[in-house]
Amino acid sequence: MLLKPSINILVVENDIAILKKCRELLIGEGHRVRAAESVEEALDIIQKHPGDVEIMLLSLELPGWGGMTLIKTLQKARREILIMTISANCGEEAMEAMHAGAYDCIRKSFTTDRFWTKMNRAIEAFRLRRQLDILTRQRQAALTHVPRDENLLSILQSFTDAFVVTDWQTNIVLFNEKAASMFDLTREKALGRSISVCIRSDELLSFFVRAMKSDSTLASLMVGEEPVVQVGGKDLRVHVDPVKNEAGTVIGAAGLFHDVSTASAMDRLKSDFFSMVSHELKSPLSSLLMQISVVLDGLAGDLTSKQSDLLGKAKEKTKGMITLVNDILDYRRIQEGKSIQNIENLDLAEILKRTVELMRLSAEEKGLSLTCEIAEGLPSFSGDRGGMEAVFVNLISNSIKYTPKGGNVNMSLSKAGRDIRFKVVDNGIGIPPEGIDRVFEKFYRIKTQETKSISGSGLGLSIVKGIVDAHNGSIHAESQAGKGATFTVSLPVGE
Ligand code: ADP
Repeated sequence: MLLKPSINILVVENDIAILKKCRELLIGEGHRVRAAESVEEALDIIQKHPGDVEIMLLSLELPGWGGMTLIKTLQKARREILIMTISANCGEEAMEAMHAGAYDCIRKSFTTDRFWTKMNRAIEAFRLRRQLDILTRQRQAALTHVPRDENLLSILQSFTDAFVVTDWQTNIVLFNEKAASMFDLTREKALGRSISVCIRSDELLSFFVRAMKSDSTLASLMVGEEPVVQVGGKDLRVHVDPVKNEAGTVIGAAGLFHDVSTASAMDRLKSDFFSMVSHELKSPLSSLLMQISVVLDGLAGDLTSKQSDLLGKAKEKTKGMITLVNDILDYRRIQEGKSIQNIENLDLAEILKRTVELMRLSAEEKGLSLTCEIAEGLPSFSGDRGGMEAVFVNLISNSIKYTPKGGNVNMSLSKAGRDIRFKVVDNGIGIPPEGIDRVFEKFYRIKTQETKSISGSGLGLSIVKGIVDAHNGSIHAESQAGKGATFTVSLPVGE
């Protein structure tokens, strides 16, 4: 057993009758009791016999130096002493004392039962606190002295990746040469100091904290993610795992950092090329669509029904390609953090009305009814016009796409608390439960018999989410398969 059952208690009380009663009760239960009649006397005992005071029963009605001063002094210097106050009424001053760190208050008019109810609770709290202290110290000690096994160290030094181990309080306990050069660490500067001080990156610190807090499932989830973090101008692929002792208790975390700056530069080059090609495809595709429309509308002469049919299909495919190209360009913008290019005060009602009018034609062509309710007097929203247009267009066009002939698409824009809320409700094919959380992932599309013939890139909703996130908003999807879908976007206006 780590703890002895009897506790060292100091009673500080100038009312001799109460002092005597407390003493008798505590000694009667086998605790060791010292007594002081003033704050000065109490401080003297604590200084001379530091280990002899574990719990202090302190009167709040002492003359001279008040009990409150003693509580504040002890909270700074000797936090491990648990303080119980005794007071005539346990009123305002007792509350203040608890605020300053005292555990509870016992009324001077206590009965034996009442005294023990409160005292036992305090003793239990003291024991728990002490146990926690012991565990904390054990955990700290476990990784503070990493055994300096020469073979192990040579293996770590031969890593081409940087390697850093911290204890459970994120203080660095071990690192290899690559880490020393990557993060400019020296043994004197780094060992025993927090990783947040030695490697200034909040993101990196959060990975270490997350690894230690996570259970093994989350830790293994991180393997798949392997995030890339920018530290000191370098792109680092980071992998952090919790370090456990033999009993399975997490005692620290180990991080492996792989410099991917060169690979990232190649990636950027590739995706720049991709963007350039997409951009170059945009204008020929638009003119192709226009020319097909001219021929389809009979402006270049009459068409047979077979020709109209074929050209109609060509028009749909061309439209699909234009959407894909736009999606790729939008997606790139978001990846580069450029979803907010130009912040201005926007009248969302006006933007929504214009977007709805633009989309009305394609809805009517499909025999859908489109309704839009806009609340009066909405505040302006500070955001990016292009981004907001993309949010409306993507959500409304999805509802049109995924709602069969004769259905309804209803939109609304209203104020909800501190947000402006945009809602699109349709009664289309809906989203099955397994897809609802995944529709915002890039390239995710639901593959069913009904969606087979509907074209799309699977990028639209991830673009919408990227834009909404960049505006500190949120988006939420609800659906019952077969009964339609509802998308709700909340944008903070901060009023
Ligand atoms: P896509 O280009 O495929 O439409 P999105 O990212 O916009 O890509 O949407 C992802 C998937 O979510 C779609 O493929 C579709 O399966 C589903 N989805 C989106 N909106 C709706 C909706 N209003 N009704 C039913 N399914 C939808």
